[in-house]
Amino acid sequence: MTDDQNAFRPEARVPRGFADKRASTLRAERRILEAVSKVYESWGFEPLDTGAFEYADALGKFLPDSDRPNEGVFALQDDDEQWMALRYDLTAPLARFAAQNWETLPKPFRRYAVGTVWRNEKPGPGRYREFIQCDADTVGSARPEADAEIIAMASAGLEAAGLPKGAAVLKINNRKLLNGLLTGAGVVAEGQKLGVLRAVDKLDRLGIDGVRALLGEGRKDESGAFTKGAGLNAKAAESVLAFVQAGSGRRSETLNRLAGVIGGSEEGDAGLEELAKIDAALKGLGIAEDQATFDPSVVRGLEYYTGPVYEAELLMETGAERFGSIGGGGRYDDLVARFTGESVPATGFSFGVSRLAAALKAAGQGIGTEARGPVVVIAFDQARMADYFGVAAELRNAGIPAEVYLGSSGMKAQMKYADRRLAPAAVILGEDEIAAGTVTVKDLDLGRELAAGMTDNAAWRAERPGQQTIPRGDLVAAVRRIIGEGQ
Ligand code: AMP
Repeated sequence: MTDDQNAFRPEARVPRGFADKRASTLRAERRILEAVSKVYESWGFEPLDTGAFEYADALGKFLPDSDRPNEGVFALQDDDEQWMALRYDLTAPLARFAAQNWETLPKPFRRYAVGTVWRNEKPGPGRYREFIQCDADTVGSARPEADAEIIAMASAGLEAAGLPKGAAVLKINNRKLLNGLLTGAGVVAEGQKLGVLRAVDKLDRLGIDGVRALLGEGRKDESGAFTKGAGLNAKAAESVLAFVQAGSGRRSETLNRLAGVIGGSEEGDAGLEELAKIDAALKGLGIAEDQATFDPSVVRGLEYYTGPVYEAELLMETGAERFGSIGGGGRYDDLVARFTGESVPATGFSFGVSRLAAALKAAGQGIGTEARGPVVVIAFDQARMADYFGVAAELRNAGIPAEVYLGSSGMKAQMKYADRRLAPAAVILGEDEIAAGTVTVKDLDLGRELAAGMTDNAAWRAERPGQQTIPRGDLVAAVRRIIGEGQ
């Protein structure tokens, strides 16, 4: 046995929750990022990029319920002993940046950001440990109109990304409503309030009866495991249930119903007033009733948001796959205060780009993003490589992606390669062609369509020869015809 045979050979594998992305995924994501960024820019938001790492204390209490720096995030101790962590969203870095540069920033500060975030949590379907977010936030405005603008922009972003109208909805709630209701019912302990929010958050999964149990004593699931409830008395629990079910129909109708359920408490009234202002602004911004609705069952970021919260939910049929939310956000007035001690009102929204890409694919919008390959110039003869490169350069100069085959296989394998690359055409430049000043172009799109039985139109086929030998000078025009017809 040689040393080489003894060598340690790791199994080639990608860490759990991380994904390799190939061309079609990357293209779909890039298209989304470009479309959404354009929307954000058109609303006057400027791009901002911050580093992947932050000092762990900058992420602070917004780490998932724990004081262990490595819990929920990927953290490491620097050689100066300071803990740094990979950002788990784009909001915490914004708060740090805003605090650090507050004096010199135009206020309100409107920025958008696109970037990878990392979460050290248990991966699952549609739940990664590394994914891309695309955020827009307004820092330094307490006006509900700032929230309305973020909601309208998120709606425009979904549409620009390619989700047809009616395929998704923005659901809006306000933390102040439930807080007001609970205060009115005598629930003041933060822990109990969190228990109520956690129970409401499970409405989708457990239904009304399940939530009722969790608002009260608790609930045993199918496996027999018991989840302790929030411990509300029956009256308080029923008022919470009436509250979460109050959302349907027009936004103004929901507001009227909500006023009946929570009316009275100061905080609840303030929340209703904010939602009424958001509604008025959304009307002005042309956001239809079915694009953005008030839904009191929406719970997000339990300890994070202080006022309005929003969630983008997919409405269309996506088969067996469930996506969860494709984006979310809300008002967080305390993030900057962590650094400066001064409360700075802020509001923002975040798209999960991979989920949005998956949703678009499920909506049938992913088709056409299939990675289209370059025109492949067949390499026959080592001595003629320069000619082949000449052909590829000519096509590229005409704006047509092209490459020369650089493997060492024969003609048949080269054609197969071109097909696997989804090349629209292969260019053949043999000795005969070179001598005659011609070139042969093979229409691979046509071949694929015929193979897939997509055409039996004889006349069309006659007009579009599968293979043609043409004067060398006509190459670009011939390939253009193939690409044009293939689309
Ligand atoms: P959050 O920052 O938790 O409010 O999430 C904002 C958006 O990011 C969500 O609506 C999802 O679309 C996306 N997202 C959150 N967590 C994950 C994850 N683990 N994997 C993929 N996308 C995620």
